Amino acid sequence: MPNLLAGKNALVLGVANRWSLAYAIAAAFVREGASLTLTYQGDRQRQTVEELAANLKASKVVSCDVTKPEELENLVSGLKESAPRLDVMVHSIAYANREDLSRAFVETSRDGFLLAQEVSAYSLVAVARAVSPLMANGGSILTLTYLGSTRVVQNYNVMGVAKASLEACVRYLASDLGMHGIRVNAISAGPVKTASARGIKDFSKVLEGVASIAPLRRNTDPAEVGDAAVFLASDLSRGVTGNILYVDSGFQIMGLGLGA
Ligand code: NAP
Repeated sequence: MPNLLAGKNALVLGVANRWSLAYAIAAAFVREGASLTLTYQGDRQRQTVEELAANLKASKVVSCDVTKPEELENLVSGLKESAPRLDVMVHSIAYANREDLSRAFVETSRDGFLLAQEVSAYSLVAVARAVSPLMANGGSILTLTYLGSTRVVQNYNVMGVAKASLEACVRYLASDLGMHGIRVNAISAGPVKTASARGIKDFSKVLEGVASIAPLRRNTDPAEVGDAAVFLASDLSRGVTGNILYVDSGFQIMGLGLGA
């Protein structure tokens, strides 16, 4: 079923490179006819994201560090100029200090804890507040989460706590914004080797473990996350809000797996 997003304007935050989950989502959106705005964080990323945006035929690329309120304001004014109506926003952003993803969780510093919460959870609230007035005809807000929110995954640590917070934010935002026809959902993706994931100690072992235990006996393909995002962004999911959709080869249903 092509063109599920024809006529929709989508904003995607979190494309760092072609391995980013946000890139797979943006590519799936373009395939389905959406017109796209991408953001990048800081000048260091500008050229890379502009090149990726050109590949995707994105109409606009804007600087946006989600911890800087003035950059969010600029983003919204830029969107108002280019596409006054926004239909979809994808938040595919997370950050924690590397040392907090490799040692015991009990060692997490106050600053490290707050940083992970600010970038990985609060930013969804800030971006939703900034862009929801542009969703005059209703809209769909998506974020990316991980099973470490509800289960202990070794070394995921402070990011697991931030994801628990993010998932609670999804529910509260869904409750607030539903009356405006704006839906808020998350995709809980299985582990994928991206730049962020490489920062987690022993991540390769996580990939091996999941592939041996998950019902589908393989890891998640970013394109599967892109296709699930198309569903949540499109009118096919018009009755779905406040939901966490697992795209993880079924791993989250397993209790004890002995592999095969
Ligand atoms: P990624 O390619 O490294 O994407 C993370 C993005 O967050 C990057 O574009 C990064 O920008 C951006 N970011 C960090 N701090 C920011 C800030 N202050 N302002 C704006 N952007 C900021 O890694 P990814 O794996 O695709 O991660 C995307 C999302 O998927 C994250 O929420 C992650 O937790 C989630 N997720 C990932 C997996 C996985 O296994 N990979 C599984 C489940 C969920 P810079 O590169 O410029 O810093």
